[in-house]
Amino acid sequence: MNISLAIHSSPRFSTWIWVPDWRVLIDAGDGVTQQLGYKIRKIDTVLCTHAHRDHIGGLLQVINQRGEAGSFALAHPCGSRSFDQVAAFANSFNPGTSWNTVWQALEEGDWIDSGVDGRLIHAFRTRHYADDNPQAAPRSLGFHLMWRKQKVREEYRDLAQAELDAIRLQIGREGITEPIDEKWLSIGGDGQPLNPDEVRGSKVLLHEATFLSPDDYDSEEAGEDVGHVHSTVHEALRVAQEAEVPNVVLYHISTRYSDQEIKTAVREVAAEMKLAARVWAVLPRRVYWDLLRERPVWNGAE
Ligand SMILES: [Zn+2]
Repeated sequence: MNISLAIHSSPRFSTWIWVPDWRVLIDAGDGVTQQLGYKIRKIDTVLCTHAHRDHIGGLLQVINQRGEAGSFALAHPCGSRSFDQVAAFANSFNPGTSWNTVWQALEEGDWIDSGVDGRLIHAFRTRHYADDNPQAAPRSLGFHLMWRKQKVREEYRDLAQAELDAIRLQIGREGITEPIDEKWLSIGGDGQPLNPDEVRGSKVLLHEATFLSPDDYDSEEAGEDVGHVHSTVHEALRVAQEAEVPNVVLYHISTRYSDQEIKTAVREVAAEMKLAARVWAVLPRRVYWDLLRERPVWNGAE
């Protein structure tokens, strides 16, 4: 597992994730352009999980700064009208650069190319709005970052190289290989616990964990977030365990907690469920430039 991940997540204020290997920015919270600077031009696709202010507060700047360097894609859930409004505003406020934005309204299950050959994005449905209608177009989406590799077809895998070469010369390289899609990273944005079946096979799961304890749902701060569904550390790690993913990143952890409270809670929950996965916790208010090279909070139970 070798994937570089820059991330900042302070719920209510700003969340953004930059994955250079796919040239994608996932969500565009306040301050993302200030942090990335001219690296913003290395983004070919902006993926928006949903239209809450802490996830799109920096979008106008991204459109402006990235648009200066030419066209790029901005993909978002098709059921959210907020993106049409942002697009209309951006196009009138700063037309010179905004017209370089290629807006893409995604359905669940849609596949799009990233700017990197063989690296794809696959959208899936999430549930963040309490009144979400599963029959209607999605207002929130999660994304899998996929790597499509050409591998030798199963029936040819046991052949000696000379035999394989002979067949290749006869039927061509396309005939002996098939595309295999590897799921490198899955991210759900805000919402209720993801379906383990959806994220199974992923090398890295990014799951929101707004609350350390379900009791905190009743607090004053959560009260302002009425109508939206979130996850706890326990729920997020349960998803990881059931899906058997080897690496978990907990993010979107409420700013009400201290760093120590967060680390302690994650270790206690992981220890209690004897979680085999390694766990990183994105502490609020920080910017990580290569998160998975940092020491995990939980190293996996033996
Ligand atoms: Zn939200």
